[in-house]
Amino acid sequence: MEGCIFCKIINGEIPSEKIYEDDLMIIINDIAPKAKKHYLAIPKKHYKLFSEMTEQDSVELGKCIRKIGELADSLGLENGFRFIVNQGDDAEQTVFHLHMHLVGGQKLRILDYKQDNA
Ligand code: 5GP
Ligand code: ZN
Repeated sequence: MEGCIFCKIINGEIPSEKIYEDDLMIIINDIAPKAKKHYLAIPKKHYKLFSEMTEQDSVELGKCIRKIGELADSLGLENGFRFIVNQGDDAEQTVFHLHMHLVGGQKLRILDYKQDNA
């Protein structure tokens, strides 16, 4: 999708360290971490909201989530993590390409996720 920062990261137009990549998703560090570990798992397919997903998207997102479970230890999330997907205005979604925040590496006492808790 033209103008989408995450599409540009996925296709290499914007250079970024990809911690993990397969045919369905990339995992990168969030540029503004809210905890000791803060990753973004970004499906390669561009869509903004769960409500826009096709059947095929749901199969692919399920595979991505399962993969995240397999990778958690190697990402330093062996003691657990929080999984956040911001959707729409009330959640203050800022990048309109669906992505999953993986937050951890410390005890999480985050009430307002948008505050700086690092
Ligand atoms: P949202 O608020 O849409 O759920 O999350 C967007 C996230 O993307 C924010 O946590 C923000 O810090 C992160 N972000 C925005 N631009 C970039 C970027 O260019 N590179 C990386 N690695 N993260 C970004
Ligand atoms: Zn996109």
